[in-house]
This record gives sequence, structure tokens and C-alpha cells, in this order.
Amino acid sequence: MTTKTFPLSQARLEEVVKEYPTPFHIYDEHAIRENLRGLQRAFAWAPEFREHFAVKATPNPRIVQILAEEGAGTDCSSLAELLISQAAGVTGEKIMLTSNDTPADEFQKAIELGAIINLDDISHLDYLAEHAGLPGCLSFRYNPGNLIEGNDIIGKPTEAKYGLTREQLFTAYARAKEMGVKRFGLHTMVISNELRTEGFLYTARLMFELAAELKQKDGVDFEFINLGGGIGIPYQLEDEPVDLAAVGSGIHKLFEEILVPAGLGHVRLAMESGRAMTGPAGWLVSTVLHEKKTYKDYIGLDSCMANLMRPALYGAYHHITVAGKEDAPRDHMYDITGSLCENNDKFAIDRFLPQIEIGDRVIIHDTGAHGHAMGFNYNGKLWSAELLLREDGSIELIRRAQTIDDYFATLRYPGSLL
Ligand SMILES: *Cc1c(COP(=O)(O)O)cnc(C)c1O
Repeated sequence: MTTKTFPLSQARLEEVVKEYPTPFHIYDEHAIRENLRGLQRAFAWAPEFREHFAVKATPNPRIVQILAEEGAGTDCSSLAELLISQAAGVTGEKIMLTSNDTPADEFQKAIELGAIINLDDISHLDYLAEHAGLPGCLSFRYNPGNLIEGNDIIGKPTEAKYGLTREQLFTAYARAKEMGVKRFGLHTMVISNELRTEGFLYTARLMFELAAELKQKDGVDFEFINLGGGIGIPYQLEDEPVDLAAVGSGIHKLFEEILVPAGLGHVRLAMESGRAMTGPAGWLVSTVLHEKKTYKDYIGLDSCMANLMRPALYGAYHHITVAGKEDAPRDHMYDITGSLCENNDKFAIDRFLPQIEIGDRVIIHDTGAHGHAMGFNYNGKLWSAELLLREDGSIELIRRAQTIDDYFATLRYPGSLL
């Protein structure tokens, strides 16, 4: 079981809404710091542990800066994310570029920043050398194929476009060495929103055994192993949060059992968690515009799936509360909708909630990761603002809401649109 709370009282929320109209995403700085600290504690035994925050989860430099203050680096998958890292003061090998189908400008920027480059295919070696040069430290992304089952979010590895097969890895490291690369890592990202300890241990065992074999056969002396992201969060009330202490101590055992005897006891461990750092530390706050009763009861919000796509995209559950009605009986069944002309624009279907009135503030939980970040402008819907609740209780605007001028800014049209 988990409990879902919102860090502002109803009165404080109303003050905030006066200054920053709904909808907006709000992030809790203290919770973000604590989430990272929890992960670091689980790996305190490791020779060196680094979380490379997956910037795509919450691509705001202010968020990246907060995590960097706690020692995190970044995992970037685009030029914009590299620039966000740089703006947040994260440079050098604190950055990993884990990109796929990578354009030259991304490789060039990563090399300029001194980042670790994580290649998605053996053919990218020559492309990288030709367009950007070789990095100080290079890794390859392993795709374990049918050794891992996959789930709805990440899919089956055998169907995934990412990474190299096991056989290709042996050729890839040998080739990179020939080309003059001196320092190496090994990477994978095959689980998503995983809550079970065994899921992490299985991946770690796979990676440690592979690293040991690559060392033995190809003489690759790995500097780091990156176990990827994918730490799940308890979206549902009945979900149990990941037992990070058990994950950490289980991986410690495997480290001693597999890596140390292989002469890899110095290997740094890395993860690139996104969701678990910011997901539970963010909320989408909206106002009820309409109630509609036809074959069902609908509550229409001033936000829509352009502000939070996960329910429409994956049928994902996000817990919902109504400000000031946290303890009221949940005895009304509603579909909670947005205004997009798509019938899947629903944040919840057949959800039992307290009786809702027009003007109520509806709080959608666990939107801190892959929430605002997945926003889009279909139907002319605009991106919301992002607010940060500071540790001192103050509110900081860390991204203003998009305006209609922003939306029209890229058009070339002889008449006036405004
Ligand atoms: C999305 C992604 C992550 C982060 O995944 P979470 O589920 O948010 O932890 C990490 N690494 C790569 C390569 C990704 O694409």
C-alpha cells in the first residue's frame, strides 16, 4: 500500500492559483532530493555509484540542477537534452549520451562536452568517428533479446530497435579498441516501471556475467556498468514501492559473486533513472470546467492529454484527488476528461471520487516524470506552466505556460492570426 499526498493545503493552493492559473504541473524539490538520496543510499557500498538522471523524464534545467547538487549526472537522448545538462552545469563524463538513430550534431555536442557516449549500434562507431571523433569513454547498449520478457511500456527486447546483440558486442569492443578508444563501459535499458526486486537482480546478473565474459574473451577492462533506468513507482494505491535497500544489497551480492572474481571489482555502477526521481514528486493541477451527464457522468477539466498523455497512451492509472475533499467518501463514479477531440482524452474512466463541483481543483498524482515532457500541441492545446515548490515553501515558476503567440510563432502566413 502507498499513500498519496499533495504538499499544499487547499488554502495555499488557492493562493498559488491566483498567481499561476491552472492547469500546471508542480514539483516538490524536497521530495526530488529525497528520491535521489534513497537510490544513492542503496548503492553506498559500491566503489562509486552514479545516477545519470534521464533528462527526458522532466527536461527542465532547474530540475536537473537540483539533482546535480545531490551528485547526479544526466542521461541525454537528444541535442536539446545535452544543452539542458550544460545549462544546469552538468558537463564532462557526468553526461551520458544514450541516443539511437543519432544525428551528427548530437554526437558533436556530446564530444564537445566530453560526455560518455553510449552507442546503439556497431555501425555507429564509424559514423561517430567520421562526424565527431571518438570519446574518452565509450559504451555499447546491450539488447538481451529473448533473455528478458519486457512489458507494455518498453516492449519485448526482440522487437525493440535498441542496442546490440550479444554476439555484436564482442566485435564492437574489439573494433573500438582497434580504433583507439581506451576506456569502456557496458549499458542496458530493458526494464520499465519495474517494481519487483527480482527484475533488477536478473538484469544485474545478466550484465555482470556478460562483462566478465567480455573481459575474459576480449580483454575489455570495464570502468562502469550502467544498469539503465526503469525503477517503477507505485502509481496504484495497492502497489508497493520498490524496495531499494533489497535491490542494492542483492546487486552487492552479485557484484561480489561475479565481478570481483573476474577482476572487475573496481567497476563503477551507474543507473539512469527518470521516473523514480521525479515521478512521485510531481502533480498536475487542473480546475473543473464542466460536468456533463449522458450515458455516464463526465467531469471536464481545463487540462487534457496534451498535458499528461500516459493514461491515453498506455491506459496508465494516475491517482486523483480533489483539493479539500481528501477525506470525503468516494461515492460518485466519473470519467475525468480533457477537451481534446479524441475520445481517449480521459485521465480516468469509471473512477470513484467524492462528489465534484464546477470550480473544484482536481489533482492528478505522480505526473513528475513523462508528464509535461510528453506534451504536444494537437488540437491547438497549449503546454502548461511548471512550478517548483521550494524546500522553504516558496513557489518558483520554472517554465511559463505556452501562449497562443508561441503556438503561432512558427507559422508563415501573410495575414494576422491575432
Ligand atoms: C526513458 C529512459 C530512461 C529512464 O527510464 P525511467 O523509466 O524513467 O527510469 C533511462 N534510459 C534510457 C535509455 C531511456 O530511454
